[in-house]
Amino acid sequence: MIAGIGYDSHRLEAGRRLVVGGVEIPDAPLGLAGHSDADVLAHAVIDALLGAAGLGDIGMHFPDSDERWRDADSIELVADVRSMLPAPPLHVDCTVVCERPRLGPWREQMAARLAEALGLEPASVNVKFTTGEGMGFVGRGEGIAALAVATLA
Ligand SMILES: [Zn+2]
Repeated sequence: MIAGIGYDSHRLEAGRRLVVGGVEIPDAPLGLAGHSDADVLAHAVIDALLGAAGLGDIGMHFPDSDERWRDADSIELVADVRSMLPAPPLHVDCTVVCERPRLGPWREQMAARLAEALGLEPASVNVKFTTGEGMGFVGRGEGIAALAVATLA
């Protein structure tokens, strides 16, 4: 069994969709800024998978400079990465660090979306939430961060 870690963060801006773990959060006043859909959780999971597989990082496979990835649906990128893996994923655990909005109501939907992209049962994807307790860029509501650990067979 091998494991990899992933970390990502994106700025919150007006006029952007808020997509986390493949779920678009309705009526969010701010969304995540980035070249793709800026799904911070999907990106952390991708880096964890690539890390476990020894395949570098997300920027090597889906560079910002490539127009193919503009507004890309990051859940599809998770599925793309799954197809690159030398061994099937077994489990993904992740944490989203977000002050607001409260994302708890979408936990199961996010786990289901990620699990589907990875060919896993929803129970094999664990999504956790915490805040910045008012500290740092997360605490000030400037952005959202996510961490993930992926385990491969
Ligand atoms: Zn990202």
